[in-house]
Amino acid sequence: MLVSLLELFLGTAVVALPVWWWTGLTEAAMAALLAALVLAVFLIWKTYRIERWLSQADLHTPLPWTGVWSEIAHRIQRLLRQREKQAAAAEQRLQYFLQAIQASPNGVTLLDAQGRIEWCNSTASSHLGLDARRDLNQHIVHLVRDPIFSKYFALDVHDSDVVMDGRASSLAQTPKLSVQLHAYGEGQLLLLTRDITSVTLADAMRRDFVANVSHEIRTPLTVLSGFVETLQSIPLEDAEKQRYLQLMAVQAERMQSLVADLLTLSQLEGSLPPGLYEKVDLPGLMSRLAADAVALSSVLSGHDGEERGPVHDLVFEPAPRWALLGVQSELLSAMSNLVSNAIRYTPAGGVIRVAWSRTTDGAIFSVSDTGPGISPEHLPRLSERFYRVDRSRSRETGGTGLGLAIAKHVVQRHGGELRIQSEVGKGSTFMLVLPASRIEALTD
Ligand code: ADP
Repeated sequence: MLVSLLELFLGTAVVALPVWWWTGLTEAAMAALLAALVLAVFLIWKTYRIERWLSQADLHTPLPWTGVWSEIAHRIQRLLRQREKQAAAAEQRLQYFLQAIQASPNGVTLLDAQGRIEWCNSTASSHLGLDARRDLNQHIVHLVRDPIFSKYFALDVHDSDVVMDGRASSLAQTPKLSVQLHAYGEGQLLLLTRDITSVTLADAMRRDFVANVSHEIRTPLTVLSGFVETLQSIPLEDAEKQRYLQLMAVQAERMQSLVADLLTLSQLEGSLPPGLYEKVDLPGLMSRLAADAVALSSVLSGHDGEERGPVHDLVFEPAPRWALLGVQSELLSAMSNLVSNAIRYTPAGGVIRVAWSRTTDGAIFSVSDTGPGISPEHLPRLSERFYRVDRSRSRETGGTGLGLAIAKHVVQRHGGELRIQSEVGKGSTFMLVLPASRIEALTD
């Protein structure tokens, strides 16, 4: 304003003084008035242009004039550009921050002081079935309609989390969520959700496993302690005593096999996946399997204690002409579990065929039997720990209920899978399918 007045005064003086000098005071006054008028119009026009320039969106447009006003406008321009940069940097930081929360595996929902949704990441959307745009400003309790959540939300203090069902995505099972509210800012709430389905499942599996192991150990222990009591309290004939001791040995053996299988499982779980540097002695392995099969089939025939040789037709195809890469002890354990199952579940006179074969994408070890077969509803659960179709046959023949679980674990560790084909009344084929990376052609 001061600059404008000064400009006006100087301009007027520059015009009026020479006129006063050459003509007179009246003419000078007239000239001064005219000059002031022209300058005032000029100043108004300039102010209007500055205002227009300032109000336009793009402050990078060069200034349309020079002089004092230009300097002032230039400074304003610089200041505004600085502010613009700061705002852009702040916006970028906010975007990074939101992207980081978006990437979080946990659900994050920001609620205002009334509990209305201000923002949520995509994990929260899928956990709670929210729509990040449509549900904005909706009250969270109106959208998450679980009574557990409503009660929790109504509490004054949210010290700990609550567990509730999440929103199931189409076919998947209902997820379990851990949900916790945290106060922040001026009464706002941060709602954190975490998918704990696998933790809950693992917990349930651990409980089941401990219960199963306890049950499996308790049964032979009860039988054993019963026999011990009988031997201690009743005087028995030598022959009778021997019969009791024989029965006790069977129970002790059963516990030993169970402990051995449990140890095998825990070793499998605790060790690194097998590398590709150990070559398995397949011919040696196959002949050991065949010898064990003959022994087992012979034992099963001799209930009267007398061995009569194998009661099954055992067919072992010759060992393959390529090498297998993996851990020999693990593979022996998996293969012998399949062979011993075939012998134990196939009635005398049945045929058991054991063979290796090459496929385009690897190799298959298969054990086929002409036993009772397994109905389809049992097949998906067969390799679960302690799952048995024929409980009494399994116990009678010294089964632990862990054989197929071990076989599956071993083959999976070698990058393969356990496949089962079975038809009731016709027999079963159990296969260890191994990938091509585990096969090596023999050079000699
Ligand atoms: P088990 O020690 O009881 O044999 P497994 O894990 O080896 O435990 O096998 C699980 C169940 O699968 C067995 O209890 C049995 O009911 C069934 N099964 C396994 N192999 C055969 C087979 N060859 N024929 C019929 N049933 C079988």
